[in-house]
Amino acid sequence: MQESQAINDPADFETVSLDHAINRILAKDLLSPIDVPAADNSAMDGYAFDGKCLATNNPDVTLKIVGTALAGKPFEGKIGVGECLKIMTGALMPADCDTVIPQEFTASSSDELISFKSDLLKAGDNRRLRGEDLQKGKAAISAGRLLRPSDLGLAASLGIATLKVRRKLKVAILSSGDELRSLGQALDAGSIYDSNRYSLTGLLNRLDLEIIDCGIVRDDPHVLKQAFIEAASKADVLISSGGVSVGEADFTKQIMQELGDVGFWKIAMRPGRPMAFGILKPVPGKSPARKTLFFGLPGNPVAVMVTFYQFVRSALLQLNGAQQTEPPLVQAISETAIRKKPGRTEFQRAILGRNSEGKPTVRLTGSQGAGILRSMSEANCFVILMHDQGNIAAGDWVDIALFDGLL
Ligand code: AMP
Ligand code: MG
Repeated sequence: MQESQAINDPADFETVSLDHAINRILAKDLLSPIDVPAADNSAMDGYAFDGKCLATNNPDVTLKIVGTALAGKPFEGKIGVGECLKIMTGALMPADCDTVIPQEFTASSSDELISFKSDLLKAGDNRRLRGEDLQKGKAAISAGRLLRPSDLGLAASLGIATLKVRRKLKVAILSSGDELRSLGQALDAGSIYDSNRYSLTGLLNRLDLEIIDCGIVRDDPHVLKQAFIEAASKADVLISSGGVSVGEADFTKQIMQELGDVGFWKIAMRPGRPMAFGILKPVPGKSPARKTLFFGLPGNPVAVMVTFYQFVRSALLQLNGAQQTEPPLVQAISETAIRKKPGRTEFQRAILGRNSEGKPTVRLTGSQGAGILRSMSEANCFVILMHDQGNIAAGDWVDIALFDGLL
């Protein structure tokens, strides 16, 4: 897709220190400058010895302890036949040893001798090999990874202090509707507070993007058009909410035809049926000249979050070069019956728990209207009922998507 290439311009990366790299997307393969581990070492607390002695028919092995090796304090001497080295996890393996017997499998008749059954292990056991985790010159983390805590630890284990990450996408948000009021304003008859910009800000912050808040825009074609032009001049992506339902859509449609190529959709899903998606042409003077991706989400507060989850989240990640963008689905047992008409995908809000047998269960969070944000706030997952699915009986397994880390 041309647009994603434009935003994925190879020059569009920046270098950040590890403590600022969480949730960013790695721009280039991170090549390991070293072997990890750098040398063979012990995987257990125990005794290191030459595993050849296990090949004899003797069922019992007795070895003399000739020294000790600790992590960071290697043993310098030699280990001969019939000898062993007391060794701690992470300590370097001496050159003449290849096997470690864990301490708990040994008996000792004196301070100097240990014995164990030879069938408890094979030559080479309990040793971590040089380069076993990562080999020098190979990719330790591939480009496109959404960086998680383990990735930062991994980079640090290689001695790497900075990472090349994609620049943050600039995402403009606006709310449209004459009835909307900003926080701090008084509510007059028929008006409501604009909540969508705050849920969207939260959703976007989870993805660590640069947010451009374009505020509330009245249902007036001229004002709306100016707001779209203004947002498109600054942002890679514009997300609006409201003004795409029947009636209003015609009016937004007309503006969109002038500004770019935008389609209006009636999606077979609930909540979130009306939606607009398309591309706004580059605004004159915008540098570099880039198109702006546009998502016109429905106005209902739950529909905004559901359509964001279903369409916008993955698109934003993909646009910025992320490799894995689809959140995982898992299954749980529905505690109650759920009414569902085939022919549309439904996103019901629910709480994941466990039953007395330890199996995962879900129960819906009260009334599921598209405007009832409390159903979302109390939930920790969506129950996703697929397009062709009909009614669900209590005890049926259903697909769920967990909010944690996503929403
Ligand atoms: P619309 O899609 O503009 O027809 O809006 C659908 C419903 O969502 C209406 O009840 C609107 O009042 C409500 N709504 C639209 N935008 C917002 C917003 N930013 N915050 C809260 N509710 C909204
Ligand atoms: Mg409206």
